[in-house]
Amino acid sequence: METGSVALYIHIPFCRSRCTYCAFNTYAGREALIPAYGEALCTEIRAAPSAPAHTVYFGGGTPSMLPPDTLARILRCLREHFPLSPDVEVTLEANPGTVDPAYLRAARGLGVNRLSLGVQSVHPDELRLLGRRHTWEDAVGAVRAARAAGLENVNLDLIYGLPGQALSDWQETLEAALSLAPDHLSLYALTLEEGTPLQERVARGELPPPDDDAAAEMYEWAEARLAQAGYLHYELSNWARSERHLCRHNLTYWYNELYLGLGAGASSWWGGRRWTNARHPEEYIRRLAAGRSVAEEVEEIPLRLEMGETMMMGLRLVEGVSDARFRARFGVGLAEAFGAELARLVGQGLLEWDGRTARLTPRGRLLGNWVFREFV
Ligand code: SF4
Repeated sequence: METGSVALYIHIPFCRSRCTYCAFNTYAGREALIPAYGEALCTEIRAAPSAPAHTVYFGGGTPSMLPPDTLARILRCLREHFPLSPDVEVTLEANPGTVDPAYLRAARGLGVNRLSLGVQSVHPDELRLLGRRHTWEDAVGAVRAARAAGLENVNLDLIYGLPGQALSDWQETLEAALSLAPDHLSLYALTLEEGTPLQERVARGELPPPDDDAAAEMYEWAEARLAQAGYLHYELSNWARSERHLCRHNLTYWYNELYLGLGAGASSWWGGRRWTNARHPEEYIRRLAAGRSVAEEVEEIPLRLEMGETMMMGLRLVEGVSDARFRARFGVGLAEAFGAELARLVGQGLLEWDGRTARLTPRGRLLGNWVFREFV
């Protein structure tokens, strides 16, 4: 897609409190670090390789905890260092309850043109189970405030497959979300991450484990409902109101193209190497203040692995992986690179392969991880 251009990811590792299912690199009660963290980000930005960029994505954590002046400072540093394309997509992740109309107007004025809201559920008991601090009414307020601020690209994140969740509960959440006319929807099946409070409650037998069959039923129902509502299903977990609303930032990952991750724990893929930054914000700030590198876990990616990862990521897209595109990038076609794997997966009913495009079958979409393992 955007040849020679990178996607920029900025990690903001702060949250008001930890949700019960969360294993992201984020910290509660560390707001006092935010000003120093903003400065450290600018230091890292100035030392990064410079390349034209087509997206900026503030992810977290809770990026909407950044005061507008810190957000402005980081965006200024980015614009000074990276030639941003005139139509750059700038996403801010936010939690309902952390944004008000004035904040969103300020963010819009600074160039944010896409808002991603972690809404998760319409049900108060589910929000409590997940340890979310906000209510559904907060989510409604945040969407209204976003529209009033002129944000024309609003994503809602929802979670399904919760312990004890009935199909009808999920249907109510998705219907409520649709009533807000979002431009984009990301639907995630709950995964129990080791060491999280939710996983521990399930392990102690206080809650039933998530039921894979029930989650598959919820996914299939959502697919049909969103098709009926006119949404474009373009990636396993993602739907857009139109082509214009596809998430260009995440498409860069799914095409396995170049990205630079800035901030604590952020990962980059650039120059044949992948690396991840020091995870803890204090360590990240300390190293940058001392003029030291924050890159850790640097890994050379051999061509064969890059090909496999291109398959693994590309098959997440409903359009699948194009033979022509693969050949243009690697100089070999899919059949030469992965003939045996393709044949095996077609035989198992998980993949369609017509010599031009490889894509998951509906059954393959439910067993994606099984398919991806074949390539890496
Ligand atoms: S708001 Fe998001 S990043 Fe923060 S604790 Fe909750 S799930 Fe994790």
